Amino acid sequence: MTAVAIGALLYEGKAKRVFATDQPDLVAVEYKDDATAFNALKKAQLTGKGALNCRISALVFEHLQRGGIPTHYLGVRDSLWMMVRPVRVIPVEVVVRNIAAGSLCRQMPIAAGSRLEPPLIDLYYKDDAFGDPLLSEARLERLALVSPEELNSIRAMALRVNIALGELFSQVGLELVDFKIELGFTGTGELVVADEISPDTCRLWDRAISDSEDRILDKDRFRQDLGGVVEAYGEVLKRVQGVCPEPRVYG
Ligand code: 5GP
Repeated sequence: MTAVAIGALLYEGKAKRVFATDQPDLVAVEYKDDATAFNALKKAQLTGKGALNCRISALVFEHLQRGGIPTHYLGVRDSLWMMVRPVRVIPVEVVVRNIAAGSLCRQMPIAAGSRLEPPLIDLYYKDDAFGDPLLSEARLERLALVSPEELNSIRAMALRVNIALGELFSQVGLELVDFKIELGFTGTGELVVADEISPDTCRLWDRAISDSEDRILDKDRFRQDLGGVVEAYGEVLKRVQGVCPEPRVYG
């Protein structure tokens, strides 16, 4: 197979760049080493983070696909590149929470660490200029971001992803506290999971450790200045690749 040629930069986000390719239904995503938090008020370069997130996301997307959950993912190329289907990303961040942490505990009288049964789904309007505010159903409707039927599909998909991710991570001794996904529509109108799924977008705790800081293996290490961010992501990759096949090479 001839190598796919990378084309023009289409979009640059905080942690990734998206490029066109010489094939119409294929875009290339480059994972960056940039780390940002608090709406990019805090920034750093963490050498190796891009490659780790690319590899972890690939393994996770393939796990979802094996479970019948559609995603934009097609395969990886080299250490930083992921080849994906182009999608129209819905500007809604879908957060699923199994254990109370983070913004939920800052904004609500809910004790950190309490189990949320059934899981809580929170939707946020994806717009940095507004600080990604929490959406109500009425606001979603007012902004006409998705139809009521699409909203039902989004919620159902988020819960399926939660079950699939929870199974994967629990197999390797990790507690899936919460996570954020982004969804989009392909050219044929199929709803798929897009963006990335990595320790940048999930809270993951080591189940064997009770200390509330030492157990953290996700971006909270960066947010809370705990150090060892890349090492923690490396530990997540080591565990996940122990139970997943090698990711497929594409392009
Ligand atoms: P929280 O609402 O506590 O800030 O975040 C809940 C979960 O969603 C965490 O796992 C967090 O990493 C993820 N999350 C929420 N918003 C974002 C975002 O804008 N970027 C990233 N990378 N993750 C997010």
